[in-house]
Amino acid sequence: MIKFIKSANYVDDYYLDDRNQICFIGRSNAGKSSLINSLANNLIAKTSSTPGRTRLVNFFDFENFVLVDLPGFGYASGSKKSREDLEKIIYEYLLYAKKLVCICQLCSIDVITESDKEIFVNISNLAKRYNIKHFIILTKADKLKPSKINEHLKKVSNFFKFSLDNIIPISNKTNLNIKKLSGILKAVVTQNN
Ligand code: GDP
Repeated sequence: MIKFIKSANYVDDYYLDDRNQICFIGRSNAGKSSLINSLANNLIAKTSSTPGRTRLVNFFDFENFVLVDLPGFGYASGSKKSREDLEKIIYEYLLYAKKLVCICQLCSIDVITESDKEIFVNISNLAKRYNIKHFIILTKADKLKPSKINEHLKKVSNFFKFSLDNIIPISNKTNLNIKKLSGILKAVVTQNN
């Protein structure tokens, strides 16, 4: 059964077993918890009515892999110090995650910012160095007309200078590409087993 494992505050507390891990990174309110629930087809992650609240690293058992939900960064009204603390948690996880095979960076399709790009560049470097798969998941695709999505994907690809093949629009509302994403993640895990 797909289920929540634990929340951790510190590196010593991070969950590790022999399975590969996939992590989700995104700004607060990007739709990380909602996507975890869509993929699980169950309400295992708390969706936040107060963005930026959770500072914990959350681990979920997805049977053939462990999904890791990193704290949402870039919450505008947080202090600089609290933003830096959050980024520290994210990079600490990335550096200590021995079984990490894939990083999914979630961006809301209608709000992509310089802080997404900053994180993107850092993740890209890390992903190349450690041979980790890297995808951009564009959430809330239901906010665009279906006929506009392809055009928008090209713009996002240019903005990040990232291959279109690695950019996946999804919607938790309409279930657009949820099954496709689930298949992609399982395939990445299998390739790395
Ligand atoms: P998190 O902070 O990244 O975990 O984001 P949440 O999953 O809590 O979602 C933040 C807000 O975005 C909530 O109000 C959700 O209802 C909304 N949301 C999440 N996914 C979608 C989606 O696919 N489409 C739309 N239109 N809204 C969404």
